[in-house]
Amino acid sequence: MARLLLIALLLAATAGAPVPSVQTDQRTGFSRADFAKLKALQSRLIDTIRPENCRREHRIFTAKPHMAGSPRNYELAEYVAKQWRDYGLEDVQLIEHPVYLPWPVRYEATLVASKEELSLKEDAIPQDPDSNSADVGIPYCAYSANIDVTAPVVYVNSGNPEDYDLLEQHGVDVQGKIALARYSVPYSYRGFKALTAQKRGAAALLLYSDPAEDGYKKGEVYPWGPWGPESHLQRGGIVYDFNLPGDPRTPGWASVPGGRFLPAENAVSMPTIAAAPLSYKDARKILEKMTGPSAPENWQGGLPFQYRLGPSSDKLHLIIENDKKVRSIWNVVGRLRGTQRPDEWVVLGNHRDAWVFGGVDPSSGSATMMETARAFGELKRSGWKPRRTLIFASWDAEEFTLTGSTEWGELEADRLKAGALAYLNVDSSASGNNFSAAAVPALAQFLKDVAREVPDPSGGSIYDAWSRRTEKKNTEPSVTTRLGSGSDYTVFLNFLGIPIADLTFDGPYGVYHSVYDSFTWVDRIGDPGYYYHAAMARYWAVAALELSECDYVPLDYAAYAREVQIYIDETERMAQQRKIELDLTALRRAAALWESNGRAALDAARKSIETGDRTRVDQIHKALMKVERTLLDNEGLAGRPWFKHLIYAPRPTYKAMVLPALTEAIEAGDKTRAKAEVERLVHALNRAAKTLDMR
Ligand SMILES: [Zn+2]
Repeated sequence: MARLLLIALLLAATAGAPVPSVQTDQRTGFSRADFAKLKALQSRLIDTIRPENCRREHRIFTAKPHMAGSPRNYELAEYVAKQWRDYGLEDVQLIEHPVYLPWPVRYEATLVASKEELSLKEDAIPQDPDSNSADVGIPYCAYSANIDVTAPVVYVNSGNPEDYDLLEQHGVDVQGKIALARYSVPYSYRGFKALTAQKRGAAALLLYSDPAEDGYKKGEVYPWGPWGPESHLQRGGIVYDFNLPGDPRTPGWASVPGGRFLPAENAVSMPTIAAAPLSYKDARKILEKMTGPSAPENWQGGLPFQYRLGPSSDKLHLIIENDKKVRSIWNVVGRLRGTQRPDEWVVLGNHRDAWVFGGVDPSSGSATMMETARAFGELKRSGWKPRRTLIFASWDAEEFTLTGSTEWGELEADRLKAGALAYLNVDSSASGNNFSAAAVPALAQFLKDVAREVPDPSGGSIYDAWSRRTEKKNTEPSVTTRLGSGSDYTVFLNFLGIPIADLTFDGPYGVYHSVYDSFTWVDRIGDPGYYYHAAMARYWAVAALELSECDYVPLDYAAYAREVQIYIDETERMAQQRKIELDLTALRRAAALWESNGRAALDAARKSIETGDRTRVDQIHKALMKVERTLLDNEGLAGRPWFKHLIYAPRPTYKAMVLPALTEAIEAGDKTRAKAEVERLVHALNRAAKTLDMR
């Protein structure tokens, strides 16, 4: 997954004064002397990591389709484990989770009167031999309901609520009909389109890739360019994991063999509507048969005829059948045990499962992870050992419902809450050359600092290249801090309260979740030479090294608190617009106190580390480690108690919602609840402030 962030990052506004790219010898988290010592280790990691190794690993991961639950994905789990052991990682384990993981059985669509059968498959491209593979499987939307229906089709544009409102205004009835929606940019999670179609009474939902979004209207299509060719289609989950990610049968606890399970059908994450993906090659056959009013201009896609709202003149006979099976998935977890603080963890994760070959998503990240692990293994061979424990994780079934990472996070909840410093996620490592990072505000400065340490293939540091691309060229780049969902960091942030970062190099990429997201796409178009795979491995390795070796964790809670003050202002404006009067004095006071305590804590740490007061430094470090946890409330959000973080949650589109419990109360126009939510937030921010009170 991880598509939303890519787009959000491309759109992210950047501001700030021009910043010269200088390297300083003082870094938050370290004494000058300790940071100087670390430089040699950084250089060795950077030199050890080689693009050609990334390419070799990438070929292995992308050789065959490796969907979660498949024998090939298990084989790859064993391969990862074997390699990691060879590299010198410790306690390498395959961890089994039996989870609800439906696979496709049947997908057929025929226009009844014209007897035209849709192909529902992607054409082989001679320049990409893998596209000819026999075992690509039936394209589908995971967690779709089953259906056998014959009905007219209605064009619903992006399938958002306002689109259905417009159809209603035009007198186009969607009830019992098949809704045809296009994928949309900015990306909106397909599960939200499913939920909306379900609420509006559609019989089923077909999701197609319009050439205006990711095809020829954007530029050259594959194999000549990065965009999607005629028959590409976007598979993907439609599960309501914005309510509950992970195995729907185990909300809040881990799925383990012989464990306790609820029935999947009743879970808040299960759609009751059927949905499936279409290419525009197939969709145009339906769109051409639409009657009714002309679609508004902004509904018109890239196909060369007037789009109409519908219904279609011909009925579609649609059969979607998925099995309802429980399958075993396999996370691979290995570690380098910390010598001084083995119970303090820095976790690096990438998912292994792909919809097909997973060229970019996720095998670029998997190749990068292998090279990162190998580099640390080399460092260990030379006699080095980390102070804290580095954990490497190859997650399974991310594409279904963030399943592997969620189950592991639930399994290891106690140890993670006690000792995790941060979770560093790389889903796709490189679909292009543009570095982007999303993280909690406390990690933003750290991520920029790391970017100054790591070379960019285009010259200078990653920071330099990142700055060159800012909207006002050569200004300070920004880390996206408004965190929604869409990749494996969700359990760490929203369920466990662990600072997270999500990292990628992105670029034009129109073959997401299609058969053309392959080795050849990456090798020829996405990252020829694999320089950006290597750059990400270097970045990831240096970030992990610094967190494992720091004297105190470089989490900037003054910055976090300032950001939250912006959210408070926004929320107040929203409440005013809805005529809900809220007294936010106590909330502002708590945020201000949090900010000043956050600043004082880091100032004290900087001073104490230079005067050699290690006891004091350690006390501050332990406090910093706890702060993100204080932002959780065990009750969670209304209707989705699994989501416990009070600053961030995903909307059903996966877009970030800030101060989610309060925001939802205001959006619901519920003044009493809004007041109670202000109280909850005041308590959380006061807990955060108190944790950092070092007097
Ligand atoms: Zn992914």
